[in-house]
Amino acid sequence: MGRLISPGARSQSFVMVYSVSPVPSDAAVAIIGAGQAGLAVAYYLRRFQLDADVDFVVLDRSPSTGGAWQFRWDGLRMGSAHKVNDLPGMAELGISFETADRSLPAKDIVAGYYRRYEDHFGLAVHRPVAVTSVVNRGADLVLRHSEGETAVRVLVNATGTWGSPFVPYYPGAGTFRGRHVHTNGYVSSEEFRGQNVVVVGGGTSAVGFLLELEGVAATVSWASRRPIDYSTDHVRTIEGGVAAVRDADAAARAGQSLPSIVSSTGVPLTRKVAAGISRGLLKERPMFVRVEPNGVRWADGSFTSADAIIWATGFRPELRHLAPLKLREREGGVTVESGQVWTDPRVFLAGYGPYASTIGANRSGRIIARQIMAQL
Ligand SMILES: Cc1cc2nc3c(=O)[nH]c(=O)nc-3n(C[C@H](O)[C@H](O)[C@H](O)COP(=O)(O)OP(=O)(O)OC[C@H]3O[C@@H](n4cnc5c(N)ncnc54)[C@H](O)[C@@H]3O)c2cc1C
Repeated sequence: MGRLISPGARSQSFVMVYSVSPVPSDAAVAIIGAGQAGLAVAYYLRRFQLDADVDFVVLDRSPSTGGAWQFRWDGLRMGSAHKVNDLPGMAELGISFETADRSLPAKDIVAGYYRRYEDHFGLAVHRPVAVTSVVNRGADLVLRHSEGETAVRVLVNATGTWGSPFVPYYPGAGTFRGRHVHTNGYVSSEEFRGQNVVVVGGGTSAVGFLLELEGVAATVSWASRRPIDYSTDHVRTIEGGVAAVRDADAAARAGQSLPSIVSSTGVPLTRKVAAGISRGLLKERPMFVRVEPNGVRWADGSFTSADAIIWATGFRPELRHLAPLKLREREGGVTVESGQVWTDPRVFLAGYGPYASTIGANRSGRIIARQIMAQL
């Protein structure tokens, strides 16, 4: 496959939030990742009177606050995101995503609110600190990271999925002369001005890209494996996807690879989306059969030229650094029940499987913190 643009390669300006204190070499608990899932665990541990940098340590490899949200594209506004749930205890700060300005980029709002949240609750996140591997040393788990090593008794992995983009295999993808871009490398429609673009995917991100590209790109085509599941039920937001959560839970308990919750919630049929359908912009075709050097070939033999293919095809849990712990089952996933890894009860996966949404992340924070307290 041709070059994928990685999030690190994007031209973005961040408010760098560097920590000044050194990373402790040991603690009872380590949390890897300060997105919604990691912050929720840290918050509940504080509620249980545990102190950051004494009892628990939080490490995050990104330059700023906001978890994966800090990397999302400007065009993803608070009003076009599914729904970002408040972190537990956020009301104490007098802020809420519910009342945030819907016209502003979600990445700025989330990064700003998380920054205030971390400060207010004294979560002492160390960043940028990338954990490269976690290994066993006696009864301890040792995190190897960019600042050295930290030994702990309990590990909470809350690393999300943003760093692990999924691109399905299509014959010929490697021969493409244009640009392959995954959702996590998309910056703005301007990059595609005057180009022929094919967008792949059946979720909200794909729809958002199509709406942004209209009138900027020369042509826009849309391919999806399944017909689009438009949802007029405004309650059917991420937390309303009960069936999706149930399926993800069953897969996690069985150690299987996970279905995506976010992509199974349907595309909200907003006024903007409905208008896009009626003017013919939002008209998906079944997946092309092959990628060729200058475009894509459809099942009926017709051809569409393309300068870029945007893969809005989702993500997988980012667990590579846990490989030495051999948590992965033959079924392809990790067996996880109520956030705890079945084969190694010292390890918790926050925001994983049924908890992969902002509301789920809050829930997993509470459940995991309680189990940690029972273990310490
Ligand atoms: C395009 C898109 C839109 C979405 N919209 C919504 C929405 O509207 N509502 C909703 O509820 N959910 C939405 N989601 C899902 C959303 O991402 C999750 O709900 C939530 O933000 C994930 O939180 P998290 O803490 O699990 O992961 P993240 O926010 O990804 O946080 C993980 C953190 O771990 C850090 N990290 C990763 N690996 C390492 C490592 N090795 N060492 C150190 N640190 C590491 C990262 O730097 C990051 O800060 C969306 C997802 C996508 C892809």
